[in-house]
Formats: sequence, structure tokens, C-alpha cells
Amino acid sequence: MGKRKFKAESKRLLDLMINSIYSQREVFLRELISNASDAIDKIYYKALTDENLTFNQSDYYIKIVADKEARTLTMIDTGIGMTQEELEKNLGTIAKSGSLHFKNENEVKDGHDIIGQFGVGFYAAFMVADVVTVTSKALGSDEAYKWESKGTDGYSIEPAEKETVGTVITLKLKENTEDEKYDEFLEEYRLKEIIKKYSDFIRYPIKMDVTKSEKNDDDDEYVDYVEEETINSMVPIWKKNKNELTDEDYENFYREKRYGFDKPLKHIHLSVDGTIRYNAILFIPENRPFDYYTQEYQKGLELYSNGVLIMEKCADLLPDHFSFVKGLVDSEDLSLNISREMLQHDRQLKLIAKNINKKIKSQLLSLQKDDRKNYEKFYNSFGRQLKFGVYNEFGANKDVLKDLLLFHSSKEKKLVTLAEYVSRMPEDQKYIYYATGESIDRIDKLPQTELVADKGYEILYFTEEIDEFAIRMLATYEDKEFKSVSSNDLGLESEDEKATEIDEKEHQELFDYMKEQLNGKIKQVRVSKRLKTHPVCLTADGEISIEMEKVINAMPD
Ligand code: ADP
Ligand code: MG
Repeated sequence: MGKRKFKAESKRLLDLMINSIYSQREVFLRELISNASDAIDKIYYKALTDENLTFNQSDYYIKIVADKEARTLTMIDTGIGMTQEELEKNLGTIAKSGSLHFKNENEVKDGHDIIGQFGVGFYAAFMVADVVTVTSKALGSDEAYKWESKGTDGYSIEPAEKETVGTVITLKLKENTEDEKYDEFLEEYRLKEIIKKYSDFIRYPIKMDVTKSEKNDDDDEYVDYVEEETINSMVPIWKKNKNELTDEDYENFYREKRYGFDKPLKHIHLSVDGTIRYNAILFIPENRPFDYYTQEYQKGLELYSNGVLIMEKCADLLPDHFSFVKGLVDSEDLSLNISREMLQHDRQLKLIAKNINKKIKSQLLSLQKDDRKNYEKFYNSFGRQLKFGVYNEFGANKDVLKDLLLFHSSKEKKLVTLAEYVSRMPEDQKYIYYATGESIDRIDKLPQTELVADKGYEILYFTEEIDEFAIRMLATYEDKEFKSVSSNDLGLESEDEKATEIDEKEHQELFDYMKEQLNGKIKQVRVSKRLKTHPVCLTADGEISIEMEKVINAMPD
């Protein structure tokens, strides 16, 4: 059979495809492996309805072979194969997806799992290859055919020899140039890495001949030998039954995925079967990543579609206030764009994000309730982020977050929740009192705390700059207003109101003198009702407290 030409438009399209769809070249392997997996899946589906066909799981695999000398990379699969006509149709027409057709034709529904849909992934091979050869023998056919193409100038199809049903795709890798190197795709470690990254949860084994080294017992020399190894884990942990998984399984997964070097404090495993179906595994880390409060830190969850990695850090899945959460989401219901690097609609993503947000909150609350020690560990690492969350976006998330907050308290010098504080307020206490300072010790020594403490009221200690900003955003908790111990009116009952008035007048001259000496640093000197053992204290007048004023003054303009 002679050489056929792509139509002019196809040529341009192919060029576009090869050069501008994907942001990373390595995804060619993901695309070819996904196709191989689809091809095996098709036999599986056929077997469901065809009595003459049995599907013996162990007969099906994908194999990757690199040949450095020949500069070829070969992908072998035992899938359904392609007839001459199918080679022509599926590989000769851009945007023709035999897999999508198969799904529609065979009414493949629920839980399944065929990945292809756009009919473009295959051409990703030309990002790394000069020549692509596809030899295929279709299920139920006696003949095999070879399709070959050098990219934009067309393709040829001719009869070929192949014993078994399935497809072999050989890529003749491009030569290296000054700027572009292709050798990495012949390196064992690199291929393994790419398979692990994108195709770890393909349900059929992806095999490779791997060189190993072993010590010889006789002479202690190392000898190399080659062994076939399955590279992918196949069954994703999130598709396993929760009851069969131990904490250790989750911890191992956390480590394997390199979410952190610590041990996660908690994992959340979700299998949601509602308007949008998805599985998710989320982790609350124990330790703060070293770059957490810097610009460099990127929040996000891994996003999978049918077990194939789509995005490494999907930021839209996590609100900023939970940016510390690690993990992944896998959904069959995502509408991917053509490169599978983005989504066409974010409606599904928004739904998932909303759902996840709720789950994280409820799981944090249950950690707070059932395992306070670990909750405090968590809070020490990430509490500040929650407080920023209350303050940011004009308080839009304050109701989600207020019950997660902890503050040091004058009572027993422990961290307390606002609910705990309010629950033990004496009946005559009107406000939730707080004091700001650099440290707990410093606050303890503040003259302003004396009167409130004397009344037997609890005081929250704010030692972080964000504390007071967050609390001002909250304004109230269970209808109780927050009140700084440094504010003018503490709302405490006082008996010697009159005495003060007289004092003020008597000492006016002294007060005026003090004010003059302090020259603009203070607004007024007054007699205070709140002092017990200290001679003097500062109080703030108006909206902004002394501590907040310090923070604001320290901010860059
Ligand atoms: P998609 O996978 O989105 O359908 P591709 O461009 O990756 O698009 O592949 C086009 C079509 O070629 C597939 O739908 C499938 O019908 C066929 N195909 C590709 N690779 C294989 C393979 N290894 N075995 C059988 N058919 C294949
Ligand atoms: Mg494909």
C-alpha cells in the first residue's frame, strides 16, 4: 500500500498538537500507556458479554523496552489491537477516538474506566520521536499490520508479521540538539520515574527489564543481572476498602508520595458517590514545611482522572486557610481539556472543593475533641494560618474557622477554645477579655490584666500579631463581644466612680505637666480604676489597640 497524505488542515493541526498542547514532553509516555490500558480494558469489556472470550487477568500487561544503541523506546501491550481499517481510522485521523466510540457503542458505564476520549494523545509521541511505528494484530483477526509515520508528512500502512494479539509501538527518538535532549527517555530510572508519576495506578502491570546488582557469595564481587519488574502499584490505595487499610498503610503512602518527612497527624479517606463521584485521601501533617509561610509554598492537591495524574498541585481544591493539607483527589467525572492538564469546567471542581473543605473542618474538630494533644501539635504548626483565614477575605470564612481557634488563657495556662472560654464565663461577665503582648510572661506582668483577673475572669493571651486582627474580625463569639484589657471601658462594675471624679480635678495640674513632658506621645493622663499594685498603665483610645497600632506601623507602605 502506498503512502497517504494528511489533508492540509490535518498537517497544521498535527503540528500544533505536537508543539503546543503539552507543557511537558514526558507526558507522551502517559498517553501511550493510557492507550495500552484502554486496549486491554476493551478485551475485558468484550469478555463480559462474549461467552467465547475469557479474561484472564494475568495474561494482560504493558511492557516498556528501551534500546540505547538503536535509540528506540518500545511499548508492547496485550490489548485488543487494531485492524488495518482501525489503524487507518484511529491513527490516520486526528481527533478520532476509537476509545470514545467503543465506550458509546458498548455502553460502558459506571466505574469504567476507559481513559481515551479526544483522539489526540497518541500524537504526543512525536514530541520525542522522529519515526513512530505501530504494529498491531486485532482480536479475532489473522493478519497483522504496520503503521508508520514521520510526523507531519503522512503515514503508511502495510501487512506485517505478529504472532499474538496486541500492539507494539516503537519510537525512534529524536537526536539530541544543543538545547533539546532526548536521551533521558532511554534511561531506566527516568522511565520508572515517569511511569510512577503519571501511571502508577493503571490497573494492569507496566513491566520493564531492570538491571540489578547482587553480591556474589564466593568472591564478594557484585554481579549485574536483568530482571523483569512491575513498576506501577496498580491498585490505588484510595480505591481500596477503608476497613482493610491500617494507619500504617496510610503513613507509608504519605511517605511514598513525599508529602512530608513527618508522620501525618490524621488521614481522611473519602469515597463520595453523589452528584459528582470522587475518591480522596487527605492528610493533616504534623510539621510545618520549612517554606510554609513564604511565597514559595504552593498549596494544592494532586488531581487524578481515572487513576491517571492530571495535575500535581491543583490549588483550586483547597481554600487558603487549609493550605497545609496534603493529598489527592481522583474523579471519573471531570471534564478534561484536550491536554488533560486543565479542566473545561470548574463546576465539578468547585463542588469537590466545597465538600472537601467541610470534611477537613469536621475532621479537625473531631481531632480537637478526641485527641487534644495532637490537635495542639497541629495548631502549633498551622494555627496561625487559621487565624489569617479568619481575617482574610473580609472575614468570609470566619464562621468556618472560629471553632478551630485556640488561645493561651490565664486559666491553668493552657490553650483553650472560644467555646470553652464562653462555657465557663460567670453570669455577670459581659465580655470575652483578652490581653496582647510579646509573650505569656510579658502579658502576665501587664498592669492592665490585674483588675479583670481580680474579678476572677479568664483572659485570653494574644501573643501573635494576627491574633487581635482575627478577633476583631470575629467581633463576637456566641454573642459575647471581645474586649481588650487595655481598652478604656472594661465594662466592670465599679464602686468608687465619684472618688475618681474628684481625684481627676485635684490632680489636673500634675496630669497636665505629665502630658507636656511626654510631648505628643500620649493623648491624656487620667486616674485609673483598674490599677491595684501597679502605679501606671497605658490604655488605648478608639478602634485600634496599642498592639495593633504597633503592627500597622511596622507594615511596609
Ligand atoms: P484517545 O486515547 O483519546 O482516544 P489517542 O490519540 O490516544 O486518542 O488514540 C486514538 C485511538 O487509537 C484510540 O482511541 C484507540 O482506538 C486507538 N489506539 C491507540 N493506541 C492503541 C493501542 N495501543 N491499542 C489499540 N488501540 C489503540
Ligand atoms: Mg489516548
